[in-house]
Amino acid sequence: MATATERRTFDSLDPATGEVVGTHVIHDEAAVAAAVERAAQAARWWAGLGFAERKRRLLDFAAVLTRNLGRVAETVRRETGKPIEDAKLETVLAIAHTGWAARNARAVLGPRRVSPGLLGVNMAATVEYQPLGVVGVIGPWNYPVFTPMGSIAYALAAGNAVVFKPSELTPGTGVLLAELFAESVSEYPVFQVVTGLGETGAALAGHPGVGKIAFTGSTATAKRVMAACARNLTPLVAECGGKDAFIVDRDADLAAAADAALWGACSNAGQTCVGVERVYVVAEVYEAFLRELTERAAALRAGKDYGPITMPGQLDVIRRHVGDAVARGTAVLGGTESIRPPYVDPVIVTDVPEDSPAVQEETFGPVIVVNRVADVDEAVRRANATAYGLGATVFSRNRRRATALARRLRTGMTAINSVISFAGIPSLPFGGVGGSGFGRIHGADGLREFARPKAISRQRFPLPGANLTSFRRSPADLERVIRLVTFLYGRRRR
Ligand code: NDP
Repeated sequence: MATATERRTFDSLDPATGEVVGTHVIHDEAAVAAAVERAAQAARWWAGLGFAERKRRLLDFAAVLTRNLGRVAETVRRETGKPIEDAKLETVLAIAHTGWAARNARAVLGPRRVSPGLLGVNMAATVEYQPLGVVGVIGPWNYPVFTPMGSIAYALAAGNAVVFKPSELTPGTGVLLAELFAESVSEYPVFQVVTGLGETGAALAGHPGVGKIAFTGSTATAKRVMAACARNLTPLVAECGGKDAFIVDRDADLAAAADAALWGACSNAGQTCVGVERVYVVAEVYEAFLRELTERAAALRAGKDYGPITMPGQLDVIRRHVGDAVARGTAVLGGTESIRPPYVDPVIVTDVPEDSPAVQEETFGPVIVVNRVADVDEAVRRANATAYGLGATVFSRNRRRATALARRLRTGMTAINSVISFAGIPSLPFGGVGGSGFGRIHGADGLREFARPKAISRQRFPLPGANLTSFRRSPADLERVIRLVTFLYGRRRR
């Protein structure tokens, strides 16, 4: 944990009870700068360990996390209010990602030979991916282990040191993660946490010693972070919000689709960036699907099946979206009366106009808009008609149709006959399009996101009469190359 130069503090609260869970230091600009400087030194040491030793340390960290699963989950439960089982599930997924990143870093990032091509016949060409140095990670509160670890584990496996600024709502979880990492890597502060409010994150994003910022949070904050990064031309990976659509085709297994839609929309009280917020159902199966969904949703209870709304201010957003949707559409289950702070029971509204806030803006609550469509083409058109583009779901028994639909959705990820399944598969990249951000975490792309490609070309032997990068080159040398290019590429193909 970094030391703060100024000892201002803030409390993290249990959103279900309002009880103080912990008190944390507000790291000011000087404290953040000190952490980045320490991290720069740690990064040199960590990079110097090489892939094999880093893999060993990271797998040990995965073991430490696994052995402390209960403790980590309990901290998450207290800071977010989510059920302990959900807190355990997100920790399990974070462990799986850490293991994958550790095991695959060398294969993805290590040096490999590439073909130099005919024009470079006397050359050897290699590419490798080198660490960036210090990676700043700014995380949200909704999955305070799984989400930041999607950047942290991959950045560490790529050979970087990390300075992590957790959300002010979940600082204790961040502090605990760094403490546990120090059990596996104690020599240098390779993974530090700086707690604080928005300004602490802004100081991290604006520090010239940071090689990249991995931001997860709202689109509005991402723009502010990007402006701070612009000062030093610091690159950014931005994982922002979503308005994910769920398409039910006419041949879908309706019971499975209803089950998945409900979990995707209401688990974690709907506070999931890839949560289901809109469902488009093909007319033939609309009534039957809605019946299945409503029956299941009516049996769910906030405070029992899922936790409270973690951020009190979000209740106003949910109230505004539900109020408008109910006024302009048809409430099938619940309504504004479902909002009983800090809990929100499931709400289902149908026939909601596509320009309403509940269809266009991120609700981040257990609210499901179900709209009827004539066919899947209309479903795709409507699904693609928001500024966001994070995840999506398609339910259809026809594999070809489902895959074709998945491709047409303007999102970074689409799950077929399952919901949010892509997030738990470490080899798949995760990230958005448009307002949902850019860049990728997870998988090989997630490892490369935290490294810079390094190209090396080596002349193996001089090629007589073909040294083009010399003032001693003759017109005949160039002529020979032009003849070769004409032979290789000169033929038109119509
Ligand atoms: P915010 O955008 O409010 O905050 C995200 C992080 O940024 C927090 O750590 C916050 O600190 C910090 N921050 C706030 N202001 C600044 C600033 N000016 N400069 C630098 N950092 C700053 O998001 P939430 O925490 O409310 O998270 C919810 C959002 O995250 C939703 O939109 C959700 O969809 C998205 N999300 C996206 C995911 C993805 O992978 N695409 C995954 C999970 C969530 P503080 O908390 O102290 O204000």
